[in-house]
Amino acid sequence: MALTPRPGIMSIAPYVGGESSLPGQNRIIKLASNESPLGPSPRAVEAYKALASELHRYPDGGAVALRAALGRHHALEPSRIVCGAGSDELIGLLVRAYAGPGDEVLYSRHGFLMYPIAAQSVGATPVTAPERDLTADVDALLARVTPRTRILFLANPNNPTGSYLPSAEVKRLRDRLAPDVLLVLDAAYAEYVTRADYDAGAGMVESHDNVVMVRTFSKIYGLAALRIGWAYCPPAIADVLNRVRGPFNTGAAAQAAAVAALEDRAHTEKARAHNDRWLPWFSKQVEALGLIPHPSLCNFVLVQFPEATGGADKALAFLNGRGVIPRRMAGYGLPDCLRFTIGTAEEMEATVAALREFTGRRP
Ligand code: PMP
Repeated sequence: MALTPRPGIMSIAPYVGGESSLPGQNRIIKLASNESPLGPSPRAVEAYKALASELHRYPDGGAVALRAALGRHHALEPSRIVCGAGSDELIGLLVRAYAGPGDEVLYSRHGFLMYPIAAQSVGATPVTAPERDLTADVDALLARVTPRTRILFLANPNNPTGSYLPSAEVKRLRDRLAPDVLLVLDAAYAEYVTRADYDAGAGMVESHDNVVMVRTFSKIYGLAALRIGWAYCPPAIADVLNRVRGPFNTGAAAQAAAVAALEDRAHTEKARAHNDRWLPWFSKQVEALGLIPHPSLCNFVLVQFPEATGGADKALAFLNGRGVIPRRMAGYGLPDCLRFTIGTAEEMEATVAALREFTGRRP
């Protein structure tokens, strides 16, 4: 008999990341993966380099120094923190530990694509709830909860829409959720948010046994290449994750760079200030060109291309021809949109110039 993977595996649509090159183009403006245009803190780069003499050693499997630094930085209990190879790994581990064949994993219609991938890889069924104005809808999510629902993922703020749920709405969701459903608050972009009605969810984790928050160093800290993220958990869930994770799931250089990145608050502030300046600028320029930017609290903007402009696919081909790489959104069920990461000032200006050429409009 031929070797076959478990049922459901072949129906997974592989995750397609943003391209980092274009044939025939030597100057690339890569705006496809929500990376930080400032790169990491120079202190993080130094810490990374310093690990070169230790490459023959296994890392600290418990990431003790990083958990302690996270505890200090965010005023959290380090024993409740579990580190992972990016938040992607933690999402996968949570699904592996809490869902299985026949179970349902619920998320919002335009939620992050790792949720269905993780669900399908354990034989669970991904279930989506409709959104309102490209924003998660608490009532719609609650209406999709069944006795088979094991996990509800909420990216807050959400990728790729950039929208968010105020803390009162997240609280309403949590209050109405059965205690045997795990609520995962994916706060990958939390560091960019300065709104008073937003909360990443650490307090909720401390007061509830079924809430986990996952975070990453890939975004504002600019360490995407090192694959390092963390989860803040109720003690019982931290215990479960520590049982299912690989013994050395995060590298030594990643741990050291992450500690240094946390300590360089000035660099994080600079990255946030850059985003605060260029995100509204880009949105305004795009709007003046007759395109529809979606309000975003993250480091990217989802832009809708109305029919009259020729549509998102034509825009993508045109932009690629100018070396600009936004992310195609068809895989997220948003075929008329492209998502643009906020890049450097020069990259943003060049992107708007290319969009101006595409639309034939002056802002
Ligand atoms: N969650 C969300 C909402 C994201 O947008 C991303 C990155 N695209 C991740 C998690 C995963 O990030 P990483 O694995 O790099 O930590």
